[in-house]
Amino acid sequence: MKKKVLVTGGAGFLGSHLCERLLGEGYEVLCADNFYTGQKKNIASLLNNSSFEVVRHDICFPLYVEVDEVYNLACPASPIHYQFDPVQTTKTSVQGVINMLGLAKRVKAKILQASTSEVYGDPIVHPQPEEYWGNVNPIGLRSCYDEGKRCAETLFFDYYRQHGLKVKIARIFNTYGPRMHPNDGRVVSNFIVQALKGEDITVYGNGSQTRSFCYVDDMVAGLIKLMNSPDNFTGPVNLGNPAEFTILELAQKVVDLAGSKSNIIFKSLPDDDPKQRQPDITVAKKELGWEHTIKLEEGLIKTIEYFKMII
Ligand code: NAD
Ligand code: UDP
Repeated sequence: MKKKVLVTGGAGFLGSHLCERLLGEGYEVLCADNFYTGQKKNIASLLNNSSFEVVRHDICFPLYVEVDEVYNLACPASPIHYQFDPVQTTKTSVQGVINMLGLAKRVKAKILQASTSEVYGDPIVHPQPEEYWGNVNPIGLRSCYDEGKRCAETLFFDYYRQHGLKVKIARIFNTYGPRMHPNDGRVVSNFIVQALKGEDITVYGNGSQTRSFCYVDDMVAGLIKLMNSPDNFTGPVNLGNPAEFTILELAQKVVDLAGSKSNIIFKSLPDDDPKQRQPDITVAKKELGWEHTIKLEEGLIKTIEYFKMII
């Protein structure tokens, strides 16, 4: 019989790619999403597949379904969206996660949490290995997300120790690709949309802050490898492409690749914006045999093609 998998946040950017890949690998997929930042068009092409089902559901409320595996991706990921209703963001990462862990416990399912590099906050250790505890402001504008995701990791480990649940934690570093929302506010989508429309490219601060960008197909492959790893491997494990770029370098790359005439302008840096970020992926390589295969330029070209189609 086909394995049944629940993907929460399945109508979002990462979730829709994950649903598609899981269906391709022969799973039955149930997508649960409250469509806060997700879009129906992200999953429209899957609706004809008899192995796919979608339910409008907010994970802050209990969900009663029978599944073998849960990928918990529900949570707004872009700073403008998670800061729009910060209390709901924390609820999703705490109450929502308790509900999904409760579901996994009841049906004895394996459960994977989409955690984040934000658990390292504005990191002092560079690159970031999993054993680094981070440098997080508990009362800032990003705290609803950072502390919410940290608490979610705590809950995962307490359900693992207290109830013997099969848990997996992926710490996802900046991921980009087709199906990012054009108004999502994240840097790759912002720069590409601005470059294609000939608008000014808005670099926050002086652009010297760094990020490491992973293409979505690589990330989805990593999440599935983690779910399929032996039960005694819980993570947390960093998933990301370690090639590190300044935001100014990214802006210049996007302008060049899009053949754009846009100017780069500088705007004020948001509070608590991390100065540097780069995953140490030693654990992912050793335990999962995983690393990225797609270089930034190649991924940007595919993403630019997508945005050309939709705007
Ligand atoms: P996204 O905003 O496109 O997707 C999130 C999805 O969750 C959306 O479909 C949204 O409608 C849904 N959602 C939000 N709150 C919900 C709730 N309470 N109940 C049900 N559904 C809810 O973002 P994404 O980039 O696809 O991120 C997916 C997951 O991966 C998130 O948990 C995010 O924190 C994590 N993550 C992403 C990145 C990245 O760079 N893309 C980096 C680190 C972590
Ligand atoms: N950023 C920027 N211009 C934009 C959007 C973002 O310079 O139009 C910067 C932002 O300040 C941060 C980096 O790009 O330093 C990555 O931002 P994003 O919101 O994509 O993700 P983060 O890693 O900060 O969660």
